[in-house]
Amino acid sequence: MTIASINPSNNETLREFDALDKDEIEKIVSTAHDAFQHWRRTPLADRKKCLLKFADLLRADADEYARTITLDMGKRISESKYEIEYCANIADFYANGAEGFLADQSMDVEKIDAYLHYEPIGVLLGVMPWNFPFYQVVRFAAPNIMAGNTVMVKHASNVPQCAAVIEELFTECGLPRGVYNNLFIPTDFVESIISDKRVQGVSLTGSEPAGAAVASLAGKNLKRSVLELGGNDPFIVLDDADLDQTIEHAVKGRVVNAGQSCVASKRFIVVKEVAEQFIAGLKKQMAALKMGDPMDEETTLAPLSSEKAAVDLMEQVQASINAGAAVLLGGDRPDRDGAFFNPTILTDVTPDNPTFDQELFGPVATVYVVDDEAAAIKLANNSSYGLGGSVFTSDIERGRRVAEQVETGMMFINQPTKSQAELPFGGIKNSGYGRELSHLGILEFVNKKLIHLG
Ligand code: NAP
Repeated sequence: MTIASINPSNNETLREFDALDKDEIEKIVSTAHDAFQHWRRTPLADRKKCLLKFADLLRADADEYARTITLDMGKRISESKYEIEYCANIADFYANGAEGFLADQSMDVEKIDAYLHYEPIGVLLGVMPWNFPFYQVVRFAAPNIMAGNTVMVKHASNVPQCAAVIEELFTECGLPRGVYNNLFIPTDFVESIISDKRVQGVSLTGSEPAGAAVASLAGKNLKRSVLELGGNDPFIVLDDADLDQTIEHAVKGRVVNAGQSCVASKRFIVVKEVAEQFIAGLKKQMAALKMGDPMDEETTLAPLSSEKAAVDLMEQVQASINAGAAVLLGGDRPDRDGAFFNPTILTDVTPDNPTFDQELFGPVATVYVVDDEAAAIKLANNSSYGLGGSVFTSDIERGRRVAEQVETGMMFINQPTKSQAELPFGGIKNSGYGRELSHLGILEFVNKKLIHLG
C-alpha cells in the first residue's frame, strides 16, 4: 500500500510513500521502547538542547517547510509560514519551561512531609490530522519528549511529505534513535499498536468518529488518552459590540485555514439589534475573498485539503439547504480545478436541520439571530461540541459573564479562539478531553508520583 501526497489546488499526485508492514512496525515499537529506557534518564539539559536545535532548524528553513505544508494540504503559504514559526515557539516554550513544569511539588498537608515527583510513562502513540500538519505533531511531541517519553506518530494519510520532514528534523536536532518515530501506516494498525504492552498512552487530534474509535481501544486496554476533537465554536455578537472590528474578526475566524480549523468560528449568534448590520458586513467581506493558488501571497481563500473534503462539505451544505436553510452567499463550488469551495453564508438553520449540530469544515458561516444575551448563551450551549468560542461586546465584565456561562473549554472576549504555547488548549463534551499546550500539556502523560517521607 502507498500513501500519497496530492496537491489540492490542482489534484496532481506529488509523491508516494510505502506504508509499513507488520514487521517494520514491530521494529519501530521495539526501538521506541528501548530508547525510552535511556531517554527517561537523559538529563533535562540534554533534552533541552535537542529541542532548541529543533526550533532553530525550523526557523532556518521555514520557507521550505511552509512550501511542504502548502503542497501537501493546500493551506495559504503565509499561514504555512506562520505555522512553522509557531512550532518553533512551542519547541522553545517546552525546552525552556520543562524544568519548572516538572519540578517536584511539595504537598501542603499539615504534619506530613510529602511531594509529587513527575516521571515519564513510556512510549506514546500520536494520531494526528492534516489541518495543521506541523503544529499538531509538535504540540504533542515537544512536551512529551521533554518529559522523557518517546513518541510514535501516525500522521494523516494526506500529509506524508510533512510527516517525513518532521521525522528528519527530529533526527537532525540530535534526538537519539527511537525517541521520535514516524509511522506510515493505515488506520487498521492503530488497534494493535494501542494494545501493545510497550505502549502506554495515545493522543488523538481529529474527528469525533476517530476519537471514539481510539478512546474505546485505549479504554479496553487501560491506556491513558487525550482527545482533541472537532468543534462548532459559537461567535456571539452582543448589541454593544464594535461592529466593524467584530465583522473583521468574524471573517478571519471563519476562513482561517480555508475554514478547516477545529476552533474556527462556525456559529455566528447575533442579537437582533445589530443583526442586519452584522450580516450585511459579513456578506460583503466574505464575498470579497480572493480564491486562488495557495502559493500566491495575494490569495485570501485557499482550496480545501482534498477533493473528497470539498465533495463532503458540498453534501453537508446541500443537506442543510434541503432541510430549509437559506443561502445568503455561495452555497456551491466554483467552476475550476482543485478542491475549492465558494465562501458561503447560511441562515434559517433550525435545530431539526441535520447540519445544526455538525461541524462544517470549510468557508461556510451559519448565522443565527436571537432576541437577547440569554438566548445567545442558550443557543451557544445547544451543541454536542464544546471546544472554543467568543463573545463580542464593549463591556468586558459583560463579556466575562457570558464567557463563564458558555459550555466550552476556551472562551475569548473580542477575538476568535486561538492557540498559544503558554495557554491551555482543549475542549469538553464531544470535543474531547485533556489539555495540550501550557504547563498542563506536559503533565498529561507523566506519572504524578507521591513520595511520602514518613
Ligand atoms: P480524521 O479523519 O479523524 O483523521 C485524524 C487522524 O485520525 C488521521 O491520522 C486519521 O488517519 C486517523 N483516523 C481516522 N479514523 C481512525 C480510526 N478509526 N482509528 C484510528 N485512527 C483514525 O480527522 P481529519 O479529517 O484529519 O481532521 C479534521 C478533524 O480534526 C476535524 O473534526 C477537526 O475539528 C479536528 N481537529 C481538532 C483539533 C483540536 O485540537 N481539537 C485540531 C485540529 C483538528 P487517516 O488520515 O489515515 O484516515
